[in-house]
Amino acid sequence: MKTTNLISIKTAQEIAILRDAGKILAEIVEDLKRSLKEGITTGEVDQVAEKLIRQRGVVPAFKGYRDFPGCVCVSVNEEVVHGVPGNRLLRSGDIVSLDVGIIHKDYYSDIALTAEIGIVRDALKKLLEVTSQSLYKGIEQARVGNHLSDISHAIQTFVEANHFSIVRDFVGHGIGKNLHEDPEIPNFGPAHNGPILKEGMVFAIEPMVNMGTWQTRILDDGWTVVTQDGQPSAHFEHTVAIASQGPEIFTRI
Ligand code: MG
Repeated sequence: MKTTNLISIKTAQEIAILRDAGKILAEIVEDLKRSLKEGITTGEVDQVAEKLIRQRGVVPAFKGYRDFPGCVCVSVNEEVVHGVPGNRLLRSGDIVSLDVGIIHKDYYSDIALTAEIGIVRDALKKLLEVTSQSLYKGIEQARVGNHLSDISHAIQTFVEANHFSIVRDFVGHGIGKNLHEDPEIPNFGPAHNGPILKEGMVFAIEPMVNMGTWQTRILDDGWTVVTQDGQPSAHFEHTVAIASQGPEIFTRI
């Protein structure tokens, strides 16, 4: 590993491990998503996640990270990110964001998605679709020679064209030997700013999109981020490498 402007460039060997980590994580999250249903608690979702993670011989990256109590962040409806698993029941009509990180052979991988519980209203389906699509709009810009903020700008432009708002207070990040590495990757801002992207950089790109205002606040538990206006929020994330052939999504489901 070497660094340029504090952004680490991964070796081929590191890329191979990160690729495996991403594949394992995507499989875990697919299984976890299938386990979601009406009537279970967010704490039970966390228990299932821990079992799935340990079964595959990898380590839950979030458990104990800055004293976070769960293996996964489970954020329901107005909860944006960092939802602490607990007694909250999932009900039909809810949307639930799962954010999962693992450590495989000392390397981190990070993914998030928002799922529907039972029958959800069309406006929520649209929110999920736009958030997911905005992630791919960002990933499309994760190319050798582009500027970092080309990713940010593509995400914001797409989200706002669809009349939703993009969260400012939480951003994506570099990833590798550490869960959070340089650079920070905002999901908003003008194009053509910041560092030039190089082959071997690996990013966790993660737009958080709100139905109402972009503003958020943190609950008294010190973790759970909610929308300031109580309207719903969605979150999608992939771990992505800047490769010579274009972006490579390690956590593709
Ligand atoms: Mg992340």
